[in-house]
Amino acid sequence: MFSADLLVSCQGGALTFGRGPTAVVAVHGTDLDVRSGERLAIVGPSGSGKSSLLHLLAGLERPTGGTITRPGLPGPRDIGLVFQADSLIPALNIEENTALPLILAGHPQEDTRGPVAEALDVVGAAGLANRLPDEISGGQAQRVAVARVLAQAPRLILADEPTGRLDHATGARVLDALLAAADRTGAALVVTTHDPDVAARLTVRRCMRDGRLLAPQAAKAPDPRGSLS
Ligand code: ADP
Ligand code: MG
Repeated sequence: MFSADLLVSCQGGALTFGRGPTAVVAVHGTDLDVRSGERLAIVGPSGSGKSSLLHLLAGLERPTGGTITRPGLPGPRDIGLVFQADSLIPALNIEENTALPLILAGHPQEDTRGPVAEALDVVGAAGLANRLPDEISGGQAQRVAVARVLAQAPRLILADEPTGRLDHATGARVLDALLAAADRTGAALVVTTHDPDVAARLTVRRCMRDGRLLAPQAAKAPDPRGSLS
């Protein structure tokens, strides 16, 4: 059993880009705690602030208001972020890109081979190991970005629209891999998406609108009259 440790706590966390009349409030003051084992979907239209909120949680952006603490994430390997945009290093092949978080955390390259091969296999990218990022498609790059986080095995997985460039079947498989990895390690999983089918597979769904995270939606209870559709 894993105890539900508090991994990250966002208290009134806000993010404004720019200043003065052209300032854009990407995230209004937001309260959000993420504990180990949680499965959270953040659902909202483009521009609603999903990526900005994930970047705040990850520490990639410094909040312009409120405070964010990460009591359960002491080490450099503890947060894994699947970026929405292309994030592979062009000069490194796919195997090297996937190993990068482990190498940066100080693991000898020999020790990364097993976890990297397994992670690439799980997302169906085993055959791409020796290619360069510009030799693979956008959908393949997205799967490699997921594999990189799976190999890292962080305590908090933040996945920014990880299925956005994938067909339905491949997206479902990538989500399977993220859920299985989180189950195996007890990690928390936070996924942003605008796909209701993806959101339905997470335990808790929170909607984002215009930089505001709305109250949680309970899982729908089965209709006692049965489904008419
Ligand atoms: P989503 O991920 O839901 O599409 P984003 O977090 O990317 O939303 O963007 C939220 C808002 O912040 C949008 O209005 C977007 O244009 C703005 N924004 C995001 N990043 C920047 C940036 N680096 N500079 C200025 N504005 C930004
Ligand atoms: Mg985004």
